[in-house]
Amino acid sequence: MDISVVIPLYNEAESLPELAAWIRRVMDDNRFSYEIIMVDDGSTDDSWMVIEGLKVINPKISAVKFRRNYGKSAALNVGFAAAQGNVVITMDADLQDSPDEIPELYRRIKEGGFDLVSGWKQKRYDPLSKTIPTKLFNSVTRNMSGIHNLHDFNCGLKAYRKEVVKSIEVYGEMHRYIPVIAKWAGFRRIDEQVVQHFPRKYGTTKFGPGRFIKGFLDLLSIFFVGKFGKRPMHFFGTMGVLSFLAGFIIAVWLVVEKLVSIANQTPYRNVTDQPLFFFALIAIIVGTQLFLTGFIAELVSRNGVDRNNYQIEKFI
Ligand code: UDP
Ligand code: MG
Repeated sequence: MDISVVIPLYNEAESLPELAAWIRRVMDDNRFSYEIIMVDDGSTDDSWMVIEGLKVINPKISAVKFRRNYGKSAALNVGFAAAQGNVVITMDADLQDSPDEIPELYRRIKEGGFDLVSGWKQKRYDPLSKTIPTKLFNSVTRNMSGIHNLHDFNCGLKAYRKEVVKSIEVYGEMHRYIPVIAKWAGFRRIDEQVVQHFPRKYGTTKFGPGRFIKGFLDLLSIFFVGKFGKRPMHFFGTMGVLSFLAGFIIAVWLVVEKLVSIANQTPYRNVTDQPLFFFALIAIIVGTQLFLTGFIAELVSRNGVDRNNYQIEKFI
């Protein structure tokens, strides 16, 4: 099978018929063999009923419905697990992404040799309150991840080589960072493609302003887990030792200074009268705690089921 289209959806009943018909038209025009996997993320509207109707018209549609709303990442993860096509395309259900982009995305993976091609909504139809923070966000992500050639990490429209979706795990709200996760998994041929973007036709957005705070925290987590997930002591231990040493050296210095003053019979201040002493005290305590955190983190990661899970590209 050439293509699996994975569509996460949450209360998008009005958009679905148009979307399904449009995808079908594009696939038939290009003679692709395909499947459409709809993941209903616990919709409370008529979405599931609509999907059942659509499946009757087009048997290439398959669908899963969550009992409750778990979030877009969970929906994508389930869609990825089910996908059979050599190229997997994800798109939003709200008709903001255009199925007309599919053939070009497919070609770039198939012939261009890319692992992941992300859409870039160069001209966006979203409110300013969303586009401006998003710009900032993308630039932070670009710099932290070292993926300098992507402008739009969170575009819902993306294409993947099958191996990519089978090797990564998306959870929480990590769908914003799939290219970063893919890169950590060793898929480095990542590129983007300018795609059309439309204003939302039906329904409302499912993500409020909280998306930016959560997004930033997720970025930190991804970065940390990717870099130190399998060796947390290297992070906590380094910080702990540095902090402890700084505190210890200052404390020794203060004591030596006092002893020297006593020996020379010059006036001196009590060690505990000096602000620096409290700084040293805190640094020693924090350092010890960081160190202990490192030990505990090592114990936790030692018990992780995937502690010896590596991405194997080839073997003979
Ligand atoms: N979505 C989902 N589960 C959620 C929230 C959103 O499956 O908990 C789907 C939603 O139905 C849509 C896509 O994720 O297909 C993108 O959501 P939305 O259009 O609301 O995001 P925006 O375009 O505002 O970034
Ligand atoms: Mg949308």
